[in-house]
Amino acid sequence: MNRFTADDINSIQPYVPGEQPQDGRYIKLNTNESPFPPSPAVLDVIHNCEYRLYQDTQATELRQAIADTADVGFENIFVSNGSDETLAFCFRAFGKGGVCFADITYGFYKVYSQLYNTDSVIVPLREEFLLDTDDYMQSKGMIIIANPNAPTGLYVGLSEIERLVRSNRDSLVIVDEAYIDFGGQSAIVLTKKYDNIMVVQTFSKSRSLAGLRLGFAIAEKSLIESLVKVKDSTNPYNVNVVAQLAGRAAVLDGDYTRRCCNSIMRTRDNTIEELRRAGFYCTDSKANFIFARHPDIGGERLYLALKEKGILVRQFNQDRIADYIRVTVGTDEQMERFFEETINIIKRGCRD
Ligand SMILES: *Cc1c(COP(=O)(O)O)cnc(C)c1O
Repeated sequence: MNRFTADDINSIQPYVPGEQPQDGRYIKLNTNESPFPPSPAVLDVIHNCEYRLYQDTQATELRQAIADTADVGFENIFVSNGSDETLAFCFRAFGKGGVCFADITYGFYKVYSQLYNTDSVIVPLREEFLLDTDDYMQSKGMIIIANPNAPTGLYVGLSEIERLVRSNRDSLVIVDEAYIDFGGQSAIVLTKKYDNIMVVQTFSKSRSLAGLRLGFAIAEKSLIESLVKVKDSTNPYNVNVVAQLAGRAAVLDGDYTRRCCNSIMRTRDNTIEELRRAGFYCTDSKANFIFARHPDIGGERLYLALKEKGILVRQFNQDRIADYIRVTVGTDEQMERFFEETINIIKRGCRD
């Protein structure tokens, strides 16, 4: 690093995204994108953008559409360039009193904690990666929970989330619902009842728009105003003109999203059943990915062997989860290929 760089920047370990090969050679099951294209309604509107002028900094129509479907007010919605940006702004705006999150969860929380110099309290998940809300009672500062969690896929029920919010009225509870559309019940309803919860969602997974970069937050008005303040002090034009139009079209076509999610959930449950029959341990994932390990092969070895066969999955060289692979749920055909290759690898492995 060069001599003009601040020490605290020098020491940051940035987030490492999954590989994004651009040659289309792989069956890509490594970064939890949707196997389906976006709604046809999305593709229709993007031809009619006004590119020459700066766009609406308030993203009025997009926020109104999200507000209407969530049954909250316009002033309760914040939109951002992917939900990662919302999360970053949360650390900047609300992280001053410290931030609590799980040891096994979305890797970006730790990175943001370093970037924004927040004190972080790492709360270990219990056996089998279960999150016990008792471990978060009377926390200081901000609590952030991915629900369903990544990369475990495990989901905490709404009543538990409510108990957490009610028991920590002096801290802000952020619920990162990147995967909520794959079988969970959203905590958005709680944002109408409590002023210390914020729900964050993304268009990247269930809405098939990872490359568009669009996410949003729902919370009580003054929390949203704090995020707007950070945004307007960073980049008032954070959500581009295409994202505003396309995002609105995606929200209005909720039926399409539900059909895609139902299909992904069916494929997920079938694949988990097959894997379990073949000797895998799989978590009860309520997300669009499977988290699995086999007693006869390590995570890295399985990941590399699958890659050699043209199938890209994700593996984390991290304590407690190094033996697992995380597999995004693709189409039925993709999952059949994945399953066949996996079984071949394991049979081969048992022979040598
Ligand atoms: C994918 C993901 C996000 C962010 O996705 P964006 O593409 O930035 O919207 C946030 N949280 C979790 C847990 C995720 O898995």
